[in-house]
Parts: sequence; C-alpha cells; structure tokens
Amino acid sequence: MSEEPQLPPLPAIGDILDRKDRFIQKVYSVIQCKECKNKHTRPFEKGDYTFKTLEDEKCEECGSKGNSLITEIYSEWIDPKEDKLIKI
Ligand SMILES: [Zn+2]
Repeated sequence: MSEEPQLPPLPAIGDILDRKDRFIQKVYSVIQCKECKNKHTRPFEKGDYTFKTLEDEKCEECGSKGNSLITEIYSEWIDPKEDKLIKI
C-alpha cells in the first residue's frame, strides 16, 4: 500500500489571506445590561473581552450604571470596493 493520502484542497486559507489584505475588519462588542437585559452593540474598544463588566457604562434603557456586561465580540469584514458585508 503506497497510496499517497489525498490532501484536501486549500483555497480556503488563500481566500482568507486575500480577504485580510483587501477587506476592512470591523469589530463590535455586544453589551447587555444585567438589570433590564437590554442589548446594544458598539464598536470594539481596546481592553474589551467577553464577560467583562463595564464599570463606567450606563445603560441607555434603564440608566443603571456599572451593570453592563460584554456578552459577545464579533467581527465583520467589509469589502471597500463592493461595499459588501461578509460575516465570518
Ligand atoms: Zn438596563
């Protein structure tokens, strides 16, 4: 048995590298208030991480301060040429 193992094609990695070159990455943090469960999204800020409590954040809904929690961080890739949104 001397059959070479079939390697899967690897265009996916090249696609991602191209994308990183050409596309603009935008990162967002999803913030949820522990009081009223209101969720909103704002651009990612340095030091953000999932499940971080934002001591200085005031809830837009109920006005509660220091009860906002980052529940999710996600990124979007935007193609500046096509102005198309791609989620990965
Ligand atoms: Zn609230």
